Amino acid sequence: MKLSEIGEFGFIDRFSGKFSALNKNEEYGIGDDCAIMSLDDQYNQIVTTDLLIEDIHFLRSAITPFDLGYKALAVNLSDIAAMGGTPTASFLSIALPAETEVEYMDQVMEGYRSLSEKYQVPLLGGDTTKSPDKIVINVCVTGKVKKGKEKLRSAADNDDCICVTGPLGDSAGGLKMLLDGISPDEMTKNLISWHNRPEPAINEGIWLGNQKGVNAMMDISDGIASDLKHILDMSGKGAIVHLEDIPLSPALQSTLKNKEQDVLKLALTGGEDYRLLVTVRNEDFEELEKEYNHQFLTSLTRVGKITAENAGEIRWMKENKPFTLDKEGFNHFSE
Ligand code: ADP
Ligand code: MG
Repeated sequence: MKLSEIGEFGFIDRFSGKFSALNKNEEYGIGDDCAIMSLDDQYNQIVTTDLLIEDIHFLRSAITPFDLGYKALAVNLSDIAAMGGTPTASFLSIALPAETEVEYMDQVMEGYRSLSEKYQVPLLGGDTTKSPDKIVINVCVTGKVKKGKEKLRSAADNDDCICVTGPLGDSAGGLKMLLDGISPDEMTKNLISWHNRPEPAINEGIWLGNQKGVNAMMDISDGIASDLKHILDMSGKGAIVHLEDIPLSPALQSTLKNKEQDVLKLALTGGEDYRLLVTVRNEDFEELEKEYNHQFLTSLTRVGKITAENAGEIRWMKENKPFTLDKEGFNHFSE
């Protein structure tokens, strides 16, 4: 059997259960944005790791080395944010072809440092080795979160509002512009910069993690169509999502000349937005929304609700009529 037949998650499912018996008390993983281990009486330690490979996750010609370094750390910080955690340290392993310019890597490290400084995350170690022809970057980030405050994918409850912390599809719109060679204008250049230098929602995640009524949380790395399914599977719930409520930036709509199908497809199945996907108890939503929008630049937007029925399924609605999606979120190995 080929990996492409079962996909990334099918592969992980084949072995993850066989390791869970080794988990000690208060250890949790595989399956959420971060693993959880007890740190002390008050805090849990959380850990995440992500891998970037040249020509799969980035094209050297389409991203500056500064942004590459920034993004390699950002995608990991995003998983810490998704748990409601505070990052504490990072580890960086890189494999490089021997002919890589030193000045190129200096810039990669400058981007990595600039984001490390922003959130005061020290780089405490890693590994450097030779690669035959591609750059490979693996980052591991640790964080901490007050015991009981960690936000799990499995915590969604019936009638929770499903919310996102910003417009969807911008990163995929930026990638499309890069691949199609569309020159950016004043408005659409933000799509490319969101794709190349996404901002992890650290402060938003910490804030949300401390609010009443916030149940499940994760970051949107593969597109909401695929990522919301993880919350549904792990919580044993279903969902209804209203397509007219999906937040879309004017820049994305302008790049795609307002073609509704194309815009929606990128917003639902495009990867790498790194917005947070949150489920909030219905009765707490309005208050939370008001407070959130007062604190942060982007708005918290309700896009649907969690249901007891149709476990594991998203029912897409458009103007209250059912709507079928032709392709689910980005999934490595599957077509
Ligand atoms: P994320 O998008 O939040 O980084 P993924 O969807 O990539 O998470 O991974 C899902 C879960 O599977 C995570 O808990 C991750 O740690 C785990 N995982 C992925 N690959 C492996 C692997 N090779 N070995 C062990 N755990 C893995
Ligand atoms: Mg994640």
